[in-house]
Amino acid sequence: MQLSKHVVASVFISALVWWWLRSSAAALACFLMGVFIDLDHIVDYLYNSPRHLRARRFFTAFEFEVLENIFVFLHSWEFALVWLALLLCVPGIRQPVALGLFIGFVTHLGLDNLFNRHARWAYFLFYRLRYGFAGKYFYGPREYRQRLKRARRRS
Ligand SMILES: [Zn+2]
Repeated sequence: MQLSKHVVASVFISALVWWWLRSSAAALACFLMGVFIDLDHIVDYLYNSPRHLRARRFFTAFEFEVLENIFVFLHSWEFALVWLALLLCVPGIRQPVALGLFIGFVTHLGLDNLFNRHARWAYFLFYRLRYGFAGKYFYGPREYRQRLKRARRRS
């Protein structure tokens, strides 16, 4: 999902967090996590095109181009499961900020999972690891073909 849409969604979800927990810190944590989890795309971008560090291309690369390798380490449901287990099992960690961070994380990942057309398991670290972080498997066969076709038309 595009960054601007994540910002809008995070404002809305953070407002709900504030209303639920009555904690500005939790709402801020939720907002920041909901937006800045996408910073992990920088690693992917630099790995795939180290010579083309331009902000405009950075944003179009993930939507339209074919990246050979996709890591997006933070975009992993496994982390959400570990985090949930910690929230449920470690009483000391149940602070509003930890909950706000968790909600921001899960919301971001859920929206990406719902609105991006990637492979069904793309947002699982073990799936990406299994296929050597190959972009082809992250996209899934249909999206990969469409991206290749688009890339050929451009060149
Ligand atoms: Zn994302």
